[in-house]
Amino acid sequence: PIGWGLIGASNVARQWIVDAIHAQPDSQIRNVLSSSEERGARFATENGIPAHTTDIDTILTDANVDAVYISTANQFHCSQALAAARAGKHVLCEKPVALSVDDARKMIAACRDAGVVLGVNHHLRCNAMHQKLRQMLEAGEIGRLNAVRVFHANFLPQALQGWRINDPNGGGLILDSTIHDIDTLRFLIGRNPTHVMAMTQSGRLAHDGVEDGIMVVMRFPGDVLVQIHGSYTVPYSEGGVAFYGSDGVLIGRDCMSQRAAGRLFMRNAGGEREIPVHHHNLYHYALAAFSNAVRGTGQPAATGEDGLAALAIALAIRESALTGRQVEVEIP
Ligand code: NDP
Repeated sequence: PIGWGLIGASNVARQWIVDAIHAQPDSQIRNVLSSSEERGARFATENGIPAHTTDIDTILTDANVDAVYISTANQFHCSQALAAARAGKHVLCEKPVALSVDDARKMIAACRDAGVVLGVNHHLRCNAMHQKLRQMLEAGEIGRLNAVRVFHANFLPQALQGWRINDPNGGGLILDSTIHDIDTLRFLIGRNPTHVMAMTQSGRLAHDGVEDGIMVVMRFPGDVLVQIHGSYTVPYSEGGVAFYGSDGVLIGRDCMSQRAAGRLFMRNAGGEREIPVHHHNLYHYALAAFSNAVRGTGQPAATGEDGLAALAIALAIRESALTGRQVEVEIP
């Protein structure tokens, strides 16, 4: 059996992860940590969790807890992951894995030294449409890749208009949403960008200089140009991707969300046709991969190294937006 401790009585845990853990064979949630006694109690009752605590050590010293899922606000991920690794617990951490590349490196080293698995919940690579798209790109179905566009603009629901738009330390669109686009691009293209440039917006929803809109341009190896539009402030838009190759175009529609959704189309000399996709729940897929890794088979869908690379690229994008300069990407 895998016993889980939830670190953070969060929205994402309630909406997606509790169900995804329960969907795994022989997995139980033993405890949930909240900084608020009252919120923890409510979360435990509403989600059928037998215990709640305000003290992380209660979870980390419990021999029945094998793994923790960290979904606190971003600035807590590193210290909580380090403590969990030192206590010998496997760590599934929400993105961004940390707020600095140094912290992400420490987390990877701590989990490696403790012999525990570190996974980062970049869920979009678990979408069956993206997985099909990756297979088709690898098989050379559209020839030599020329350019990519990513559309990931939406309107941030009222319930989420908290730290995302008012915390200059852990908030902002780049580390919340653009980092998912980056992970998805790394997954689909199989490489890291070499250079990035970006401009951001602020002030439609976010304040205190926190960005709520972005346009990014990146160069990937092989002279592939990539563009991202991301936003918290655009209602009625549809998330998607378009891959432009020498022999055709692959278009993914409605595929930048948490839902098991997305339709894939290929357009070439033969016209346009839809590619069938057999969808699965993204979070069930992520939890299955992580649970298998805990049991010694395979890797998490996104590893600590994937989380670190996505973070390093996201921070390069932020640096470009702040300085107005092109930034060379360095991934330690
Ligand atoms: P929440 O705001 O729901 O949770 C973050 C923390 O905020 C919780 O740990 C909780 O603290 C605290 N909190 C929750 N409700 C309240 C409240 N009413 N008043 C004060 N504090 C409260 O954030 P999300 O669930 O949206 O995000 C959590 C993490 O998950 C982030 O790192 C985010 O980037 C990531 N995320 C990932 C997604 C994915 O699909 N991969 C999707 C959404 C988020 P406490 O634990 O102390 O109770």
